[in-house]
Amino acid sequence: MSATVEAAARAIRVSGGASRAAWIDAPGVARIDRVSIPEPGEREVRVRLEGSGVCGSNVPVWEGRQWFSYPLEAGAPGHEGWGVIDAVGESVHDFTVGDRVAALTYHAFAEHDLAAHDSVVRLPPELASVELPGEPLGCAMNIFARSDIRAEHTVAVVGIGFLGALLTQLASRAGARVIAISRRQFALDVARSCGAHETIAMDDHARIIERVRSLTGGEGCERVIEAVGMQWPLDIAGELTRIRGRLIIAGFHQDGARQVNMQLWNWRGLDVINAHERDPRAYVKGMRAAVSAVASGALDPSPLYTHRFPLDRLGDALEAARTRPDGFLKALVVT
Ligand SMILES: [Zn+2]
Repeated sequence: MSATVEAAARAIRVSGGASRAAWIDAPGVARIDRVSIPEPGEREVRVRLEGSGVCGSNVPVWEGRQWFSYPLEAGAPGHEGWGVIDAVGESVHDFTVGDRVAALTYHAFAEHDLAAHDSVVRLPPELASVELPGEPLGCAMNIFARSDIRAEHTVAVVGIGFLGALLTQLASRAGARVIAISRRQFALDVARSCGAHETIAMDDHARIIERVRSLTGGEGCERVIEAVGMQWPLDIAGELTRIRGRLIIAGFHQDGARQVNMQLWNWRGLDVINAHERDPRAYVKGMRAAVSAVASGALDPSPLYTHRFPLDRLGDALEAARTRPDGFLKALVVT
C-alpha cells in the first residue's frame, strides 16, 4: 500500500500539467484538474487509463460520511481501471510499454495511475477492444470460486445488480440451474439473458420461499448467493438454503449490524461463507481468473455496462451509481 501513498504524493496538482484527473472536493462535488504525470517507482508501472468502473463502494464517499476527509486524492477512489502501460519502473521486467492491462490501483478516475507490477494483469490480444474493469470481475470470480457450484446444483441468486448478474452467468455456464430473485423487472430480464432458468420478483417473503420450495421438491437450494447487502435479502437467503447447503454472502453489510436466524442456520447445518476478499493478492488472482473467463466466453460482462460517462462527468457517474435509475447495472468512466 505504501507505493500507493507515494503515487498519490507524486500526483501533485500543477497548472497546465499534461494529465487530467478527477477530484472529489466534498460530498457531491467532483471536478477535473490538471496533474503532473506521475513517474513509476522501481517496481511500478504507469497505466494510461482507458477507463475505470464506478463501484457501489464509491457511493458512501460520494454521499459523505463523517469519517472521510475531503478533498480526496486525485483520481480516488477509482480502483477498477484498465488501459495501456506507458512507462515502467527500472526493476519491472514482466511488463513493457504498450502492454494493455487491467490494474488494481487506487486513483483510477484519471488519465494516468501507477500500479505495483504485481497488481497488473495483461489482457490478451483477443480482448483488444474489450473494456475490462478488473477488480469487480475478479471479485465475482473469487465469490464464484468460494461458492463451489457444480452442475447438479440449484443456485438461488438473491439480488441482481452487476455482481448478481455476473454470478448468474458463471453459475449457469457451469451447468447449474439458477433461480434469480430481484426487486426490479429489468434486472430479472437481465438475469434471464445471463442464463437464469427461473426468475422471482422480490416482493413477498412467504411467496418467494413457497416458489423456491416448489421449484426444488420442497428442499431448497444447494447454493444461495446473497448479493444485496441488506437485512431482508439476507433473511430470505437463509430460508432458501437447503439442509447442508451453502449460503454465500456476497453483499456488503457495512452499514450496521445484522440479525441472523441462528436457529434456522444451526438446524439446517448450513455452511455460511463471507465471500469478500481483503488481501490485494487475492483480488489480483481473481482478476487473472476473470481475464481468462472473459477470453474463453465463460464470462461476458459487456452487456452489463449500462452507463458510460466521460471522466469530466464523474459526478454524474457517481450519481447514477447512487440513485440506480431504471436500467442501471454498472457505470464506466472512460477517458
Ligand atoms: Zn469495486
